[in-house]
Amino acid sequence: MSNTDPSSDKIRFHCTSCGVRLAAPAKHGGATIRCPKCESELPVPVTSEPDPAALRREWSLARCPSCEEVSKVRAENHDRPVVCASCGEAMIVSA
Ligand SMILES: [Zn+2]
Ligand SMILES: [Zn+2]
Repeated sequence: MSNTDPSSDKIRFHCTSCGVRLAAPAKHGGATIRCPKCESELPVPVTSEPDPAALRREWSLARCPSCEEVSKVRAENHDRPVVCASCGEAMIVSA
């Protein structure tokens, strides 16, 4: 597979037994491997675990100008009107 980006061809996950970070080729998704650290057998997930830092970046907190309720707003909705879940007023959230 010379035409595949090697960095995107890896599944990243943690050993369920000892917690060490592991990476396996994507083609091993769903297979069982042996942890190189604690030697327990564990299944390789089919997709990478979500990176918690990346998830945090996808959300920001916005304070509603009308009712001051704080809402979580997805990054994809930044600079667009979102409706406050508390009072129903539309507000613009900046990144
Ligand atoms: Zn382990
Ligand atoms: Zn509000």
